[in-house]
Amino acid sequence: MKVFKFGGASVKDADGVRNLASIVNRYNDPLVVVISAMGKMTNAFEELVQAYFEGNGIEEHYNKIKDYHQKIVADLFDESENDLLDEWLEIIHLKLETEPSLNFDYEYDQIVPFGELMSTFIVSAYLNKIGWENNWIDIRKILRTDDLYRSAGVNWELTSRLMKEVFSFDGDKRYITQGFIGSTDTNLTTTLGREGSDYTGAIISYALDAESLSIWKDVPGVLNADPRWYPKAQMLDELSYWEAIELTYYGAQVIHPKTIKPLQNKQIPLLVKSFIHPDNAGTAIKATEQNLQLPPIYVLKRNQTLLSISPKDFSFILEENLSEIFEVISRHRIKINLMQSSALNFSVCVDHHKNIDAVIEELSNHYGVLYNTNMELVTIRHYTQEAIDEVMENKEVVDSQVSRKTARYVMKGSEWSFNE
Ligand code: ADP
Ligand code: ASP
Ligand code: MG
Repeated sequence: MKVFKFGGASVKDADGVRNLASIVNRYNDPLVVVISAMGKMTNAFEELVQAYFEGNGIEEHYNKIKDYHQKIVADLFDESENDLLDEWLEIIHLKLETEPSLNFDYEYDQIVPFGELMSTFIVSAYLNKIGWENNWIDIRKILRTDDLYRSAGVNWELTSRLMKEVFSFDGDKRYITQGFIGSTDTNLTTTLGREGSDYTGAIISYALDAESLSIWKDVPGVLNADPRWYPKAQMLDELSYWEAIELTYYGAQVIHPKTIKPLQNKQIPLLVKSFIHPDNAGTAIKATEQNLQLPPIYVLKRNQTLLSISPKDFSFILEENLSEIFEVISRHRIKINLMQSSALNFSVCVDHHKNIDAVIEELSNHYGVLYNTNMELVTIRHYTQEAIDEVMENKEVVDSQVSRKTARYVMKGSEWSFNE
């Protein structure tokens, strides 16, 4: 069996759903198809949760979400079927009428997943209608997690067992299910973190020993840079698991970073393919024996903050200091993208985050903390001097870290322009 994953961009409107249908129709394999929320609906749901929490503007945000889905339903189905989403909309509305608890992350996970639930419900019904028979599965019954809301950890053993039972391919040939969401053992809905649907594809592939996982994107495959930033980006036909893990770790947004490891553990190939040109091969991420010759690969992370931390008493930065600094940063759920230490100073480049002020305040008890916002972090794997010169042109670099294969630069955020 194979696992397919379609992201939000692939099902952003009725034509997208029809295109998805034409892609899955080409395959005769037993399939599990994982789908994200439609278009930018996860962002819209996030705004709705915010409104729900603040008790302000709920109806406006709810209506925006409702209208978006209803339009797609109206376009795909006959008028008599326009009530397809009524039950879902009713459940959402009832939830919004209750008082929120004090736990924002918990409430987020009780509301945002309706994006995935409605999206898969629409696609599954449409595919059945056109004769592509499939079973709609509520993945929350089988993807079991802990209760770390918005960043839930998977219970692999239980999940694998339940997935094998439910995706049994016993009489059924195709299943449609949701990415990004799961549930605790007390049946409370959780999410795996933004962009987590790729990861769901990997979890299912792992549990079912899939032949391959294909993720269908709006790009031809994995390129050597994000084409929205670097217009000269070129296709990479093949990557090792190792290289793909490195790239996603450095922030290449094309694949969720947690996706690769479960696949590598079972040597399941990951195919990144274009939903616009589905016949093209795309990028294959798999075990490779030979050393692939790769061009420089660029990863840009925007909106970074650089924190520079030094002991107030001018003593050295010692292990105890590092352990204390890491404890504060990790407790505030901030992700470190680059760190650098010297005798008197420790600096970290982190994603901009609402908790940074709290971190600075806490650390300021023992340390002098300087910070720069609006930084960018550029990583070049397999760098060449030419690649470095191109990226550094007209840029003000404030920190750098160069190893044998990887060069990384923290620079002040400014407009990018590349010579064609
Ligand atoms: P999905 O709809 O599946 O969630 P994403 O938007 O998460 O898709 O991922 C696809 C996007 O990733 C592309 O539109 C592209 O702009 C961006 N991207 C970033 N880095 C790369 C890269 N190295 N190769 C290809 N695409 C990249
Ligand atoms: N819909 C979720 C998000 O936008 C999950 C995903 O698309 O991967 O983050
Ligand atoms: Mg994505």
